[in-house]
Amino acid sequence: MKREIPVLNIVIPCYNEEKVLPITAPLFLQKINQLVSEGKISDKSRVMFVNDGSKDKTWEIITELSKQDYHFIGISQSRNRGHQNAVLAGLMESMDVCDITISIDCDGQDDINPMDEMVDAYLDGCEVVYGVRSKRDTDTFFKRFTAEGFYKVLNMMGAEVVFNHADYRLISSRVLKEFANFKEVNIFLRGMVPLVGFKSTSVYYERHERIAGESHYPLKKMLALAFDGITSLSVKPIRMITALGGIITVLSLIAVFITFIASLVSVSVTGFVPLVCALCLIGGIQLLSLGVVGEYIGKIYLETKARPRYIISERTYDDK
Ligand code: UDP
Ligand code: MG
Repeated sequence: MKREIPVLNIVIPCYNEEKVLPITAPLFLQKINQLVSEGKISDKSRVMFVNDGSKDKTWEIITELSKQDYHFIGISQSRNRGHQNAVLAGLMESMDVCDITISIDCDGQDDINPMDEMVDAYLDGCEVVYGVRSKRDTDTFFKRFTAEGFYKVLNMMGAEVVFNHADYRLISSRVLKEFANFKEVNIFLRGMVPLVGFKSTSVYYERHERIAGESHYPLKKMLALAFDGITSLSVKPIRMITALGGIITVLSLIAVFITFIASLVSVSVTGFVPLVCALCLIGGIQLLSLGVVGEYIGKIYLETKARPRYIISERTYDDK
């Protein structure tokens, strides 16, 4: 089944990307022009930048671009809300004005060429097309190890995610309209999109190094994202209890181990020491468990508030 030529919005979250945008924006435009000239998408297609409360000149660059070419449009979030919320804002804003969206980072790490294949898959009847990293050669061993472990743990915990797929994907407006009914405020797009269902497929691409600027996802943030992916929440104090529980558990285990070795080499260990170790171990495990349960309570807490997931303060075009 071939469909009518769709209107495409490329949705691009940008946070402090003044160094990158002037380099990658023309590439996105080129891609749109190429797809239009091949008759795969309509000329009403747009490159939509979502400024996520940047503190540098990102928004100025976006407004400037929108004046240079009508294919460029931009929206700005009222403050920094994080990558997931920025993408969501762009998708929800695009839903009513286009047939398909492709979300992609603005730093040039994700190859734009698989977009052709994504649009082809849509024309063949798919509603969701996942961009999947085929190689991670440019990532450090550590990043690759932690990132791949992340997908495995998520799946083990029952969150359905496509292995090695981040947030580079095509979603049709039809799916987005259903997705709009998922009202949760703790959003983890790559885990939620598969829940909507519909016909989907994957295309494979190589991930490059960032063209300029720095990653906003150092190890600490990556760990946080992993944790959120599983519980789809972050409540700091409760997490600190969890961490405390973890530390006590590990320390106790070490103490138990040392006591054990000491008893082997016949250093006399009074009955008091193993008792304290055991107590600490149990105490640590209890705090750890309390923290995990607390994560879920925190999640309920945030959900009951039902705060808006994004607030758009400016657009480069007239309000809807
Ligand atoms: N980003 C965002 N809000 C944030 C952090 C990042 O919109 O609070 C955007 C950023 O501009 C980029 C994308 O999300 O387009 C991915 O961020 P980054 O490249 O820093 O992450 P990495 O690729 O290193 O995981
Ligand atoms: Mg990046």
